[in-house]
This record gives sequence, structure tokens and C-alpha cells, in this order.
Amino acid sequence: MNKVDSIIKGQIVLKDKVMKGEVGIKEGKIISIHEGTGNLQSDEVKDYGDAFVFPGMIDVHVHCFSNPDEGFVTTSTSAAAGGITTFLDMPYDLPNPVNNVDQFKKKVKQLEEEAVVDICLWGTITKINGTDQIIPLAEAGAIAFKMSTFETDAYRFPRIPDPEIMKAMKLIEKTGLRAAFHSENDEIIVDLIDEYQKAGKVYPKAHNETRPPVTETSAVLKLMEFAYWTNVKLHIVHVSHPRTIDLIKLFQAQGVKVTCETCYPYLLMDVDDLDKYGPIAKNNPPLREQEEVQGLWKHIEEGNIDLVSSDHAPWSAEQKERGNENIFLASSGLPGVEIMIPLMFNSTVSNGRLTPNEFSNLMSTHPAEVFSIPGKGQISVGYDADFTVIDPAQKTVIDQNSFKSYSKLTPFNGQELNCKVISTILRGEEVFDGENVIKGPGFGKFVPGSAAK
Ligand SMILES: [Zn+2]
Repeated sequence: MNKVDSIIKGQIVLKDKVMKGEVGIKEGKIISIHEGTGNLQSDEVKDYGDAFVFPGMIDVHVHCFSNPDEGFVTTSTSAAAGGITTFLDMPYDLPNPVNNVDQFKKKVKQLEEEAVVDICLWGTITKINGTDQIIPLAEAGAIAFKMSTFETDAYRFPRIPDPEIMKAMKLIEKTGLRAAFHSENDEIIVDLIDEYQKAGKVYPKAHNETRPPVTETSAVLKLMEFAYWTNVKLHIVHVSHPRTIDLIKLFQAQGVKVTCETCYPYLLMDVDDLDKYGPIAKNNPPLREQEEVQGLWKHIEEGNIDLVSSDHAPWSAEQKERGNENIFLASSGLPGVEIMIPLMFNSTVSNGRLTPNEFSNLMSTHPAEVFSIPGKGQISVGYDADFTVIDPAQKTVIDQNSFKSYSKLTPFNGQELNCKVISTILRGEEVFDGENVIKGPGFGKFVPGSAAK
């Protein structure tokens, strides 16, 4: 009998099937997978019975440092409690974004001291004359590059002009990494917001009305055409509208290497929630009409959306609540790393909309494949022993006050879900036992991208 460091038993979710079985772990890696039990020997055995043992869930879209009060410790603790074993941290840090190698290396050092789960780091570029940092950032281990066609902040989160986007795409293509974009048409939005503010139209839904679907679809169209001519691997973050996916499919059919994600709020809320919750439900792009939400779900069911992310944005109560009088004053974004996995399981596997395998693909396997994350995203021999264990027979009640994140305001507060994350396991060791996060800062590791030297 094979002696291993530890054994995990349960309903093992493999790439194409689910089987009652056991997984053998040695030195943090998966070394064997067996149907049934009794094939392996170890002093450390965890039997999860009928609960699903998924590959560790991956959130590709997290903003630890948009608010410096958050940072790696709270976000990664929150992620562990939410069943996430690896996340990709965005580069738009306050005060200084990750648009050069020195900043990147500083962030890696901080990550190694503070992370509770594994983390990959995005890189970005300055508004102009910044593309010379692309190759060095790729070699330093950036997982991908994030840019924006909308100006959130001229220094921290700039709109990149078209000539710089073209230069950047040509260089990123050489690295084999992905160029990802926040895709909204800046000019139309700025003009509409100006018009609305002057007319005193600052009610919650004004946020949606000043960012109509054409502002997303037209921005995405331009980027896909740029990708056609540069051959870069393109990724569209936080798609909010089904027509965007229709357009992506057209370009994919022409050979453009474009992938996309949506975020859990676009699937689980609609524009009426902006009325109901006000700034707490404000994000960019905004929530859409219910029939548009149903259109996104149809694309999820048909497999047209590669993955779902959280776009975790850790704003303080003050940064959200200042939008109560005027929606345009509130920060955009919602916390998500601690609730996305149970929320998504509850509205897919629990109600039969997706199989456990399809869920696993959306939340773990595809994120790892789209961003070429080594050793992650599958329960396969040789992969990291990262698991997210979800019990469909238990319940979770979302309590925002218990969030490990600094950010504690969510429209989903109080919602009861038909599932519970009962364990989060990273490289063979439990980080969350269903009640408490039992590993501290420094357990998580930096995972370099595929172009690292
Ligand atoms: Zn984001």
C-alpha cells in the first residue's frame, strides 16, 4: 500500500467526472487519485463524506490595495474563508500602481510576508511612455497585464490612449501573457455624467443610465480589432452585458484569441438592486436590466463565458455611503472574495443550473488555463494539492460583520445559501476549517507568471 503524507476522501470533482474516492498528497502535491477507498495509507486522513472536493478555487480579479486599509492580510484571510486558494491581485494600488519592476518586486516581497493564500500579481503600464516596462515586468513574474479604456484616476488607473494600447499589445504578444482590459467608452460616459450632474439627476439608477450597454460593447469591439492585428491574447474583464459575449464569439470565430469573464454581481443582481441598495450595489460597469442578466446566464450555460471573478473592491463604509446623496460620489465596486464561491454554488450547482464539473471549470480550471497558472486548477497528479470542499447539505447565512475583509458592506447580507465551504486546503495543508482561518500571514506564496525568468 502506498504511504502518503495525507489523504483526502469525498466526492472528488475531476475534469470530466465526479467520483467517490481518495486523493493522495505528498510534499504539497497530488501524487495519486483513486476511485473508492483503501488504496492509500497515511496517519493523516480527512474524510469529507458526500461533500464535493473541488480543485482550489481561483479568483482572477481582486483589488487588495485600491484601499490601503485592506491589503494582503485581510483580503487573503477573507479569500481563505471563502474557499479561494489562489487569487490574482490587480495592479491599481494606492498610492502607486504596479507599472514598473521596482514596484512589482516590492509588492512580491510584501506578498511573501503577508499572504495567507497563494497570489499572482498583475502588472500595468503608465498612461503614456510606459510600455518599456512590459518585458521586464513579464520577466519579473507578472501573471498578465491590465489596462483600461476608462479613466478612473489619471495616475493610478488611467485610460490608455489607442497608440499606447497598440504598442503594449505588440510587446505583450511577445511575452505570451494576456492583455486584459477594463472596457468602457470613456468619452460617452464622461459626457453623460456631466449632463446628469448638471440636471441634478444623481439618483442611484443614474449610474446605470450614464453607462449604457453601448459604452461596454463599443470599447470591446475596438480592443478585439486591435487584437486581430497584433495577435495578442486578449481578456475582457467584468463583462456586464450579453451582447458583449455575442461580439466576442464573432471575433473568436475569426481566430482572435479573446477570453472573457463576468463577475458574480452581474449574475446575481439587476439594476433594480441599485435602487434598492444604492451605492452598496454600485460597480463599473453597472448592474443591468433583468432580461440582460438572463442573457448573461444563457451564455454561462452555453459555456461562452470562460470564468467568473469577484472584482473584490475593499471600500470603506464612508467611501460607499457618501454616494447616498449623489450616486456619482460613491466608490465603485463590492467586496467579494469571501462570498463569491458559496453564492455561485448556491445559484448554479444547488439548483441544477450547472453540474459540479461545469462549476469547477468556471471557478478553477478555466481561470488557471486562461492565465497559464502553473500547478493550479485541476485535481490531477502533479498538480498542487489545493482543494475547496463544499458541503451541499449545510447552509451558510451571509453576515457582512463577520467578513475578514476590511470592507463590510454587501447587498447579499443576510442571504441564506444552500451550501457551505467546509474546508480550504492549500498545498496539502488546511488553511480554513469551515469555522476559522487557521494559517497566518506568510503561508501563502507568490506564484510567478509563465514568462518569468
Ligand atoms: Zn476590477
